[in-house]
Amino acid sequence: EVRVRFAPSPTGALHIGGVRTALYNYLLARQTKGTMILRIEDTDQNRFVPGAEEYIINSLKWVGITIDEGVGVGGPHAPYRQSERKAIYKEHAQQLIDKGMAYYAFDTEQELEEMRERLKAAGVATPQYNSITRMQMRNSLTLSEEETRNLIETGVPYVIRLKVPRKEEIRLNDMIRGWVMVHSSQIDDKVLMKSDGMPTYHLANVVDDYLMKISHVIRGEEWLPSAPLHVLLYKSFGWENEMPQFAHLPLLLKPDGNGKLSKRDADQLGFPIFPLTWKDPQTGEVAKGYKESGYLPEALINFLAFLGWNPGTTQEIFSMEELIAAFSVERIGKAGTRFDILKAQWFNQHYLRSKTDDELAGYLLESLKNEGVACDRGKAEKIAALMKERVTFPQDLWEQGKFLFHAPTDFDQAVVSKKWNEDVVKVLSGFRSEISSLQNLDATTAKSLLDKVTSALGIGTGKVLQAVRVAITGAGGGPDLMMVMEIIGRDEVIQRIDYALK
Ligand code: GLU
Repeated sequence: EVRVRFAPSPTGALHIGGVRTALYNYLLARQTKGTMILRIEDTDQNRFVPGAEEYIINSLKWVGITIDEGVGVGGPHAPYRQSERKAIYKEHAQQLIDKGMAYYAFDTEQELEEMRERLKAAGVATPQYNSITRMQMRNSLTLSEEETRNLIETGVPYVIRLKVPRKEEIRLNDMIRGWVMVHSSQIDDKVLMKSDGMPTYHLANVVDDYLMKISHVIRGEEWLPSAPLHVLLYKSFGWENEMPQFAHLPLLLKPDGNGKLSKRDADQLGFPIFPLTWKDPQTGEVAKGYKESGYLPEALINFLAFLGWNPGTTQEIFSMEELIAAFSVERIGKAGTRFDILKAQWFNQHYLRSKTDDELAGYLLESLKNEGVACDRGKAEKIAALMKERVTFPQDLWEQGKFLFHAPTDFDQAVVSKKWNEDVVKVLSGFRSEISSLQNLDATTAKSLLDKVTSALGIGTGKVLQAVRVAITGAGGGPDLMMVMEIIGRDEVIQRIDYALK
């Protein structure tokens, strides 16, 4: 049975890369009719940020990633918040001590620093607390049993360290990277339990993956260096036969491909890095989210799915259901993927276009409400149909359609200087008098009256059309002008022509 988990640490807003990690886990879970678990890894109290957990949950909800088991849902392995599982980690650390796989260490910060200095002086580049150096330190391997017991009983602070073997080849077969091999001499005796009684990430993560019967660990590549240590932990516990399969996802790279994508790049290039708007509780800084920037969740999901995975065909548009059917870990690449926000916009445009006029009208009416501009639903629907092909974000309907509500006061000077002439003035006045007797102006009538006027004057409509557009809309380009006239209505067209002819 496939059981996967998304295991974020509530240290701030969820990064967009985290959403991708959650998505890949989710796709595998749904495809295999497995279980998607949300575990909150909050054992590092120094980095805990209030509100982050709720933010994570809301973000997953918004993109449509549902959780079967975990924080906010419950389940057979509750609690799913690591800070509530302290006793479990303590008991497991004790198991390792009892098996001789871990030990107590009482070294003070100063003693550790002295050890590092000593090793550096002896020419060791990266001093480690390991199978050799541990023998000179104050721990339960060098102290007698009685001394150790005394220190613990008198309340001397201690940590529990993993007793990493001196010579052992550690191997793991990552589903994406293939075989990864590390020699145990490169791993130091990692702290498993801190002096405050909290487990480190490594211990808590492995114990929980085991107890929660996780079958696949799908996570970011930044965790690959920790994976051998995790394998060693499974072995130390005697769980090597229940070890999950690992899949470390490729890095998300800056748009230019030079290094890992960061919040700073996103800020500089002006795109969001978080799914939802986030106000940092410490600095008060507000970072606008994908949602608030006008991205549709289905577009973001489609975009993220392709950051590392591809279906092996030319199909690019995938709904969540289609992704669930097509996804496979085997088709995730090793190489880092450039983060191309233009592609995200392309997906957004696609999904926005596939909305009905009614839905689009809803977006427009919402913008108009915020702007305090009145508009009936019928008109909003016409605008939606007119603008549909031109917009990338819902708010563009208003941003790019303002001229449908407000008469222009500025006119595209480049067009005016090139195209404005006596013929244009004649056409506009002729057209004005043709429409002045109408009850109302629809696009077809506008077109035939404009043609009637130009042909009577012996001028090609094409010659004057752009200038006519500038007179009515202010801009040299835009959606179908006849439809624009229908939407703004006869009176408004006349007023705008009068203004332009003044
Ligand atoms: N808590 C880790 C994180 O925030 C989880 C890493 C993992 O999935 O093992 O990314």
